[in-house]
Amino acid sequence: MGRVYVAGSINMDVVATADRHPKVGETVAGQQVLYFPGGKGANQAVAASRLGARTTLIGRLGKDSFGAELKAFLGGQGIDLGYLQETAQAHTGTAIITVAAADNTIVVIPGSNALVSADDVSVVPLVKGDVAVSQFEIPLPTIAAFFRRARAAEATTLLNPAPAQKFGRELLELVDILVLNETELGFLAGTELSDSDEAVRIIDVARQLQAHADQTICVTLGKRGVLALAGQEEFPVPGRVVKAVDTTGAGDCFVGALAAQLADEVPLRTALAFANAAASISVQRMGAGPSMPTAAEVAAVL
Ligand code: ATP
Repeated sequence: MGRVYVAGSINMDVVATADRHPKVGETVAGQQVLYFPGGKGANQAVAASRLGARTTLIGRLGKDSFGAELKAFLGGQGIDLGYLQETAQAHTGTAIITVAAADNTIVVIPGSNALVSADDVSVVPLVKGDVAVSQFEIPLPTIAAFFRRARAAEATTLLNPAPAQKFGRELLELVDILVLNETELGFLAGTELSDSDEAVRIIDVARQLQAHADQTICVTLGKRGVLALAGQEEFPVPGRVVKAVDTTGAGDCFVGALAAQLADEVPLRTALAFANAAASISVQRMGAGPSMPTAAEVAAVL
């Protein structure tokens, strides 16, 4: 069984709840302040680890109290933190979220995540059978260096290009499996896509983006499930009918679960069905990190 190596962001999400959002220059009294471990890298590593994969998270924390709390949380999830660095150069990545009247505003300060470097990933002992996972909340040259190393070791590379930003063909060519939602796919392909678009159109756009003949593109479609383009083959993974209460982190759960399955040498179709089921469990619970299911919970619904 291979290992999952996630190079990515770690944030503390600080959530303030209030009856209404303040206007510019105004102060309002709120009700609660809540602290949630977040960041796409951390969320995906938590998902993979809870699902039983041996998981290593490569990233950076600041030398501050959020950094210490996050380290304790991630260690408690069974994640190997041997390649996690603490830096005095920046504060721990933080998202300031205001929730009022079912709407939110978010300010994200990347902080230490912006300092994850090519040197940080160059020491990772990737071997054949491992899965290297990344997202767009750390510098792109770092991801490219990580994937080049993974390729040299014959490990599988899995990219979740979120939050969406344009990136070069050179990085895309290093990707074995691309996981993105329909909005991100539309953005990268230079066309507009919505969740009501037909499967044939979504697959057509995915095919335009495909960088090499063996590349797999998985388009997540919320409650509609997933559309996969694997090489020349295309197939849907139908969404599971559940009562969603909070979809935050559904995409991260899907990515972590897929990586865990691939590290376990599970064939792609079975791995996608498993990841789809895992993500459908996560949307039935509040929060991102705390909503990630265990392997037993996923097995129970499959
Ligand atoms: P987020 O940014 O909220 O984490 P995303 O846009 O990256 O999400 P989605 O496509 O919304 O990702 O969801 C990822 C996967 O989670 C879906 O492909 C599906 O497997 C599962 N999922 C999401 N929403 C639902 C739902 N309402 N019912 C069942 N499964 C869901």
